[in-house]
Amino acid sequence: MMKRFCLIIALSLAFAVTNAQAPAVYNSADILARLEKLKVLGSVLYVAAHPDDENTRLLAWLSRDRQYRTGYLSITRGDGGQNLIGEEQGIALGLIRTQELLAARRIDGAEQFFTRAYDFGFSKSTEEALKVWDREKILGDVVWVIRNFKPDVIITRFPEDSRAGHGHHSGSAVLAREAFAAAADPSRYPEQLKNGVSVWKAKRIFWNTFNFGNNNTISPDQFKIDVGNYNALLGKGYGELAAESRSQHKSQGFGVPSQRGTSFEYFVLTGGEPVKDSLMEGVDIRWSRVTSEGDIEKKINDIIAAYSFSDPSSALKPLVSLYKDIKVLPDSYWRNKKLAEVQELISACAGLYLEASTPQAYAVQGDSLRVNFFAINRSNAAIRLQYVKLENFDSTFNQVLLKHRGISAFRQLYVSQAKEMSQPYWLRKSMEKGSFNVDELDLIGKPENDPSFNASFKVEIEGLELEFEKPVMYKHTDPVKGELFQPLAVVPPLAVNTSPGIMLFRKNQPATKNYTVSGTAYTNIKPAKATIHNRNGKSEDDIKDLEIALNKGATKNFQVPYTNKDMKQTDLDVINSRIEYKNQQLDQANYLALATINYDHIPPIKYFYQDGITVLNLDIKTSGKRAGYIKGAGDKIPEALEQLGYEVTFLGENDIKEDVLAKFDVLIMGVRAYNVHEWLVGAYDQLMNYVKNGGVMVVQYNTNSFVGTLRAGKIGPYDFTINNGRVTDEESGVKFEKPSSALLSWPNKISGKDFEGWVQERGIYFADKWAPEYQAVLGMKDAGEPDDRRGSLLTAEYGKGRFIYTGLAFFRQLPSGVPGAYRLFANIIANPNYKGK
Ligand SMILES: [Zn+2]
Repeated sequence: MMKRFCLIIALSLAFAVTNAQAPAVYNSADILARLEKLKVLGSVLYVAAHPDDENTRLLAWLSRDRQYRTGYLSITRGDGGQNLIGEEQGIALGLIRTQELLAARRIDGAEQFFTRAYDFGFSKSTEEALKVWDREKILGDVVWVIRNFKPDVIITRFPEDSRAGHGHHSGSAVLAREAFAAAADPSRYPEQLKNGVSVWKAKRIFWNTFNFGNNNTISPDQFKIDVGNYNALLGKGYGELAAESRSQHKSQGFGVPSQRGTSFEYFVLTGGEPVKDSLMEGVDIRWSRVTSEGDIEKKINDIIAAYSFSDPSSALKPLVSLYKDIKVLPDSYWRNKKLAEVQELISACAGLYLEASTPQAYAVQGDSLRVNFFAINRSNAAIRLQYVKLENFDSTFNQVLLKHRGISAFRQLYVSQAKEMSQPYWLRKSMEKGSFNVDELDLIGKPENDPSFNASFKVEIEGLELEFEKPVMYKHTDPVKGELFQPLAVVPPLAVNTSPGIMLFRKNQPATKNYTVSGTAYTNIKPAKATIHNRNGKSEDDIKDLEIALNKGATKNFQVPYTNKDMKQTDLDVINSRIEYKNQQLDQANYLALATINYDHIPPIKYFYQDGITVLNLDIKTSGKRAGYIKGAGDKIPEALEQLGYEVTFLGENDIKEDVLAKFDVLIMGVRAYNVHEWLVGAYDQLMNYVKNGGVMVVQYNTNSFVGTLRAGKIGPYDFTINNGRVTDEESGVKFEKPSSALLSWPNKISGKDFEGWVQERGIYFADKWAPEYQAVLGMKDAGEPDDRRGSLLTAEYGKGRFIYTGLAFFRQLPSGVPGAYRLFANIIANPNYKGK
């Protein structure tokens, strides 16, 4: 289905920590580490281009060993990458990778930031990356993050030249260096300075050099630090922590082994003051940075000296006193950070547990929401619960929290019709080609939305009044996974889906097909008159006077006919639908669909999109009826095959038998099938026999990387190899190397026009070297490259059949409804032996 961005009015939200897990609890070792951290007033910001670029070992060491406030600014959310675990692409993949970064940060202890830049796919030059992103806009975002985070030291992963290996990588280094200077310059981005930040001059900026095997930028004369040490409070070294953190990038297949023992990180200074022995040389990272009075650090040392692992609550009275001492200091960045840290420590030492949860998965606009509150003191400390506030609910308790005696309460809240839907903030407005649009400066840089509902608990601990904010989480128990805390999503009463994603008609062959408009209710919808508006305002397609009445959770489908008789001259139409009804005294117009992404290593992700149907009216012929499909890592090619009139059968390991395969006119391998199915290597002989006997076998791209078990020589009837060859410019010229090839002439005559309107890229993982039996059909290249790449589409006749390998990105083009890609694909899968059975 087509996913487009919707326009929703946004509210401004404040900076907050990640909200995607159970309430944090700290054991005695965590508390001691946090006490030590109170003495450190220094910060480091690491900058690179994508989720998975960051050096998790260095981040873990900076955050957990040096105890610096540590951040990773990923310029993009990784929207344009590959997805090894599912079929999500584009913004949906960016949402997954955002959560993978947050999961990694929960392990290494660093914080996460982003700019508005969109990962538009592989880029061969810095200039292209900066141009597509909109250099001034994204530079402003980096400056904004620096002015907020106030790093003493900035570290880039990449250099600014081609050793970075990717235009986004070198671009991230250019932006970091420029922002290092611009953040300190009051004439740059002055509007930011009116919004609560001041200019910030970091002491220096480094490039963290690397040795990626074939690309070694380390030299012995560079400044180096050993980050391989062991942390007894964690029971782990930083090489172990780094591996855990990095292995969260599951969509990228980046599981890595732990390293133990000495390991050096190397640095090249790229701006600011030089160093001899320490990253932080010349930076005051002690309390003298904030106050000339020396007793705060002494007080912390005294608390640590007297700290009891078996009874952390014995530290409460001195921590309360420390809190008061810090509170009276003049307002400053570090004073506020440390005040929040001490508050968190007071709660942890008291074994105080505060929770706001709901048994409902959704908060529905205009409906009620049950919220359960729970507070418990698990120490001998004197604690009093004063009140709990949530939205317009305000309840005074003024009750002592006796040791181990929890206080529970619940309230039914009314969720306003105007409560903002849980749409990730960067998807609320329509986007540019290379960047998201976010108007609220306060949101820029944040990894995700703040929670939709925050309960505020006012608690008095040892005479000190503190206010704790707790997000309302959806809490439930799964029989297999146990107790789960998940983000609570705010949704409208009705979600609207349409299907299929693509409707394909043959030009000059009048036909009518039905499409489906579905309404799914998130609350009980009382009987009401409804109208379905189709095609965005073409009123002849409206369906009026429908009865709508739905129970919560139910879905109702409406069939709508569509005929291509009006489409004589056009190839393309888009249908968007909305359902309007009068319910509960209010007019409702619902037009958004709700998508949910579920993977075990990250919290469930929800976002809204305008569902749509792309209608194609094409001059297209096919030859074949039955397609066997072997799913790879996930793609939407089978839907497209059905629209082309094929019956699609999904095949697994046990179906690779002569009599089963013989039924199919074409066998198609989903993207990266050979990377994910080891058994395909063993199926080689059967597959080749199928081709020899007159079948057509089409293999879409596979990677040559460390992932999977690819043996390129064992895919086709003759040898070929695959490399990283790709053409990223979707508008690059295409040469017909073999105009006589059947793939270009039968059953559809392909012309240059068929390569117009492609999206994101031409293709990836092209064939590199191939046996003379193969024909290379097309030639293409990106700007600035000397020679055409010829490995995007290889074909060989074998026995009575045909084998094809293609790196062309059909998995992107077909779901996007690119007409020429359909015509070319129809040729690739056409079987010359098909007699129209
Ligand atoms: Zn990268």
